Amino acid sequence: MTLDFINQVLESLKENNLYRHLRTITGGQGPWVEIDGKQILNLCSNNYLGLASHPEVRKAASQAAETWGCGSGASRLICGNLRVHELLEERLASFKGTEAALLYGSGYAANLGIISSLMRQGDYIFSDRLNHASIIDGCRLSRAKIVVFDHNDMDTLEAKLHLTSTSSNGRSDIRKLIVVDSIFSMDGDLAPLPQLVTLAEKYQAILMVDEAHATGTIGPAGRGSVAHFGLEKHVPLIMGTLSKSLGGYGAFVAGSRKLIEYLTNTSRSFIFSTALPPTVIASALAALETLEANPSLVTRLQNNAEYLRKQLTLLGYDTLNSQTHIIPVLVGEATVALEMSRRLLAEGVLAVAIRPPTVPAGKSRIRVTVMANHSRDDLDFALEAFRNVRIVLDEKVTGSGTSSRTRG
Ligand code: PMP
Repeated sequence: MTLDFINQVLESLKENNLYRHLRTITGGQGPWVEIDGKQILNLCSNNYLGLASHPEVRKAASQAAETWGCGSGASRLICGNLRVHELLEERLASFKGTEAALLYGSGYAANLGIISSLMRQGDYIFSDRLNHASIIDGCRLSRAKIVVFDHNDMDTLEAKLHLTSTSSNGRSDIRKLIVVDSIFSMDGDLAPLPQLVTLAEKYQAILMVDEAHATGTIGPAGRGSVAHFGLEKHVPLIMGTLSKSLGGYGAFVAGSRKLIEYLTNTSRSFIFSTALPPTVIASALAALETLEANPSLVTRLQNNAEYLRKQLTLLGYDTLNSQTHIIPVLVGEATVALEMSRRLLAEGVLAVAIRPPTVPAGKSRIRVTVMANHSRDDLDFALEAFRNVRIVLDEKVTGSGTSSRTRG
């Protein structure tokens, strides 16, 4: 066996405009970033509140490095369980309104580890068609039967829940899990959590909600979508990340003490992976404190999102059902999305093309995300760029050639 197939796969990705490459950012993360020596407006970061470079967060990370060093030494169950891990878990649990929380190395690892430890072969997982890849991979790893339902379609979900409960003849040993993103990462719409809770209770399924994009962006003081709907007592399993609004890295699950005890004992991506470094934990604690002390950050994010979404719609763009700071600009074909993204960059705006397999074929888009610390001038700069590249959509032109425009 040789590696010849690699070339074929890469060539085929290029032919289909699905090839991916890494872009180098030469400075830090902020509302503007440096690329090839130019300041470019950043419209694709998940650092929604700007906390990745907040002075308090930086200070906490450097003090933690001085005090505890840069590594945690081992997994939590060996000798990597530092007091700061526990402190952050306590803070996250109270932020999410649950009894306890457990940290994971990343959101990807969390979804893999949570789902695969709860579900087994013969069980059923009901998964929204637009769920994040890490949820899909967690479902696959569990070897349970995966029942995909159309995006946010509660009638189809109920029909599928009904069908499986009649075909399993009321066997109580079969576990059922319904899992959704609470803000969908590529569409920016909300899962209908109240209906999902009703269905989960009616069909005795566990409900798991991925709050990666909802933590820090929605709900009272940014506590998430579950809190937004007042459902803290009805969602037994809330997953969230430290990598988006909280500006750092890592993830957590929040739920009952028993759930956390169970995952600590059975969840392989928790057990067999090194604990997050103290610098990362200290910066997440500082980010959470900064968020709790400044709930206006969330309002600023929401106001920026509303302005940009409305203005993009007025320019004639289709932003699907976005209700949040994630604003898809639907384009259609991957080639057109790539060309639009290239032209936006020439205009001084970084907004990447999202193509299959991340989104379905024919639904390629520019995924725009705003930040709380984008100024109104920044947003108007972005809108001017979108006005100038509109021609790509109208004419479906390929090739490049717009004037170069950057700030500062
Ligand atoms: N869930 C969702 C909904 C996500 O969008 C992401 C990452 N973009 C993850 C989980 C994975 O989180 P992480 O980047 O921390 O691995």
